[in-house]
Amino acid sequence: MTAQIVLATHNPHKVQEFGAIVAATRPDLEVVGYDGPEPVEDGVTFAANALIKARAAAAHTGLPALADDSGIAVDALGGAPGAFSAYWAGHAKDAVANRDLLLDQLSDIADPHRAAQFVSVIALVTPGGAEHVVEGRWPGRLATAASGAGGFGYDPVFIPDGQNAPERTVGEWTADEKNAVSHRARAFRALVPLLANL
Ligand code: IMP
Repeated sequence: MTAQIVLATHNPHKVQEFGAIVAATRPDLEVVGYDGPEPVEDGVTFAANALIKARAAAAHTGLPALADDSGIAVDALGGAPGAFSAYWAGHAKDAVANRDLLLDQLSDIADPHRAAQFVSVIALVTPGGAEHVVEGRWPGRLATAASGAGGFGYDPVFIPDGQNAPERTVGEWTADEKNAVSHRARAFRALVPLLANL
C-alpha cells in the first residue's frame, strides 16, 4: 500500500525534487504538497524554521511531514545572513539587493577571510511527535562581484571550494553540476537513512 508524506511547501518544483529523492529509497511513499495554514516562521536558525514548518504540516494533515530551510552563512559575519538570507536587504525578497548588500558588507575583507557556506536543513516530524533534523553544508567563499546568470539567490556571488582554475561562481555552473554537490544534495543524502526507518 502506498503511504504518504507531506512536504511543507507550496512550491511544486520542491515537491518534485523531494519526490525523486524519496522514491529512490521508499518507492512505497508518495510525497504530497501542503495546502494548509502557513505558520509564522519566527525562528532565528535554519533548524528552528524547518521544524516550525514541519510541525505545522504534520499537525494539520496527520501525516509525517518534511520541511526545508536554507540560506548562506558568512564566517566573518558570525554565520549571517543565515536564516535571514531571503530578507537580508529588507522584506522585499529582492535577490539582487540581498547579494549587493552582502558584497558591500564584505567590501574591505580580503579573500582569505571571505569563507562562506550554503546551508540546507531538512526537518522530519511524525504525527506521533518524533522529530529529526539533518543538515547539508557546501563550503566556499564570497566572490568580490556577482557573475553568471544561472541559478538564483546568492548563486552569482558564491565560489564553492575544490574547483580547478578558473574558479567559477555557482551562477556560472550548470544546474546538473550544482544539483550533484549542493547543500541541498548533501542534506537529501543525510535524510535517506531516516526515510528508510520511517
Ligand atoms: P528558503 O529556504 O526557500 O527560505 O530560501 C532562503 C534564501 O536562501 C533564498 O531566498 C536564497 O536567497 C538563499 N538560498 C538558499 N539556497 C540557495 C541556493 O541554492 N542558491 C542561492 N541562494 C540560496
